[in-house]
Amino acid sequence: MKTAVYPGVFDPPTLGHLEIIKRAAGICDKLVVAISESTNKRKTAFSIDERKKMLDILIKDMDHVELVSFSGLVVDCALELKADFLIRGLRSGVDFDYEIQMASANAMMTGIQTIFLVSSPQYTHLSSTLIREIAACGGPLQGFVPDSIVEYVRRKN
Ligand code: ADP
Repeated sequence: MKTAVYPGVFDPPTLGHLEIIKRAAGICDKLVVAISESTNKRKTAFSIDERKKMLDILIKDMDHVELVSFSGLVVDCALELKADFLIRGLRSGVDFDYEIQMASANAMMTGIQTIFLVSSPQYTHLSSTLIREIAACGGPLQGFVPDSIVEYVRRKN
């Protein structure tokens, strides 16, 4: 029984995140999507409850996918969940440079491995930052976030 943890801020979740969740669920027995309550980069646009609500909508029909939130280190969350590996998505060399550092640190601290899933070409340009900018200017969100949460993201702005 292999448990994987997919951590992120998901501020808000995008079609790119959703695709990684679906693909990750296919390579483990249990996938836990772990929402980081805060980010050291900035204040989140969506509260932890709002991000939970959106991810709940996205995973509601998925069999062995669960949701948790955490604060602090990803590895502590992974240890608590007895996870076998972490999942992260890769869009570009920029992601890679950051992720390789995180994956090495996480492996050094706990021995936990990170499995990288490369973004599908149609989603490599998608980021939560881009979506927040489009939403703030009243632009169309279809094709950027899953249809089931478009209204939720729009209403927030
Ligand atoms: P974090 O600040 O932890 O990177 P994010 O919510 O921005 O939080 O991203 C969570 C994970 O999802 C990261 O591994 C990121 O690289 C990945 N990710 C984000 N957007 C995409 C996308 N469009 N395609 C594939 N992976 C993505």
